[in-house]
Amino acid sequence: MTLTLTRALEIDIKLIPVEEDKALLLARRLWEFDGRPIEPQALRRSLERILTLCQREGVRYPAILLRRKKELERGTWAPDPALAIPEELPGDPNCTICRGAGVITNPGGLSGRNCECYIRKRSAKRDPATPEQALDCQPRRGSSLSSLE
Ligand SMILES: [Zn+2]
Repeated sequence: MTLTLTRALEIDIKLIPVEEDKALLLARRLWEFDGRPIEPQALRRSLERILTLCQREGVRYPAILLRRKKELERGTWAPDPALAIPEELPGDPNCTICRGAGVITNPGGLSGRNCECYIRKRSAKRDPATPEQALDCQPRRGSSLSSLE
């Protein structure tokens, strides 16, 4: 599932009136331009930019955007850190050969073959023969947050 601004901010789109659609669109674009930050301080900065832009352009924005910014300032609300987990790569993200792509491209780039980490991961998923192989399937938390900063 792709991370969206409304999901990160826990906004229920159904509650946003049509007049505020434009602001939501602007907000989404700016936030995506910022690299979809979800780390509280980065998200707050992004929200600040969004609100400033809406004010400058005279666009009516949903009150929830301002509320979330204030909550981030006060530390009373923060996005779910689990949202920062990137979509699962076919291979092992720590693999030095394919960097998680799961495939090795042959010279020339016209063909490729499955990387060993991909084959290992696939067989581990079907039947974890050893605890180490089973652990290979675990989502890697922690490392994903720093990459968004
Ligand atoms: Zn690999």
